[in-house]
Amino acid sequence: MKVLVTGGAGYIGSVTVRRLLEHGHDVEIFDDFSTGHRSAVPAGLPLHDSSLLDPESLAIVLARRFDAVVHFAAFSLVGESVANPLKYWGNNVAGSVNLVGAALEAGVPRFVFSSSAAVYGEPDVETIDEDARLAPVNPYGRTKLAIEWALADAARQTGMCATALRYFNACGADGALGEDHAPETHLIPRILLSRIDPNFEFQIFGDDYPTPDGTCIRDYIHVRDLAEAHVKAIEAVDRPGLTPINLGTATGRSVREIIDVASRVVGEDFAPVVRGRRSGDPARLVASNAKAEAVLGWRPVASDLETILGDAWRWHQEHPRGYDDR
Ligand code: UDP
Repeated sequence: MKVLVTGGAGYIGSVTVRRLLEHGHDVEIFDDFSTGHRSAVPAGLPLHDSSLLDPESLAIVLARRFDAVVHFAAFSLVGESVANPLKYWGNNVAGSVNLVGAALEAGVPRFVFSSSAAVYGEPDVETIDEDARLAPVNPYGRTKLAIEWALADAARQTGMCATALRYFNACGADGALGEDHAPETHLIPRILLSRIDPNFEFQIFGDDYPTPDGTCIRDYIHVRDLAEAHVKAIEAVDRPGLTPINLGTATGRSVREIIDVASRVVGEDFAPVVRGRRSGDPARLVASNAKAEAVLGWRPVASDLETILGDAWRWHQEHPRGYDDR
């Protein structure tokens, strides 16, 4: 298939581009490089350096006849979305509406959207399935849900086959492709960066949660597994309308468990300071992945913590200043 990947220079996007190429698909990338990295783009791939807020350039690119669009391009910092919500409503929502419109106009039959567990908010259930209540608690989650709704309405009306992949905690690295956000807010890169940069300190955000060791529980999923699910989504989903699918491991890991595995992988003990809770952090977020298996035939194969931490640590050691292209 000929596939357009928006945000193909970003973390999950770049790994997905690699997987799509390995599966024999023709890939073109659309990215404005506001957060993506030029060195994450394979040489020789058609690259459209443009913005989702520019409908004319979207129309020109989409006229190149794609069989599928995989849409990652978005700002993704929860805290920033609280501080500057219109940046998220403007770029992420308006940009996605432009993209879906251009894809429909060009007759693209398949669309895969990067959604998030943030659409669920703080559900009070052990494992979250796709029928759980949608109650996002911050602008980032609300904008992801708004895009899902727009896509669902458009797909229902036109017969487009659309999938919303709701990621839990993306992590790990894939060879030379790794996680490099500015600022870095995520747990695993923060732990590892504290060993790379002596000025970088990470802390545990709360150990008084109602969990066995008091720290928050999350569902950590290797970026390679996430990427594979996107390939399966464009190949397998042929149902008109929007199909939402969780991507996780169905296994919860606490912050302390992550730190323990990181200590083994790095070969040094961590003794982080515990500070107060970070606002908006639910105690536990773990996905049911039964639907992903049933619809996509997908199962995580690289998401054990040793593989995740080992791959991420190798990447940070090889890229001590990240991609170093800002
Ligand atoms: N966390 C932490 N210290 C950090 C970064 C994160 O204790 O420096 C905790 C955070 O409170 C949450 C978990 O690690 O319980 C995962 O946070 P992350 O930001 O990686 O992902 P989120 O689940 O918030 O999307």
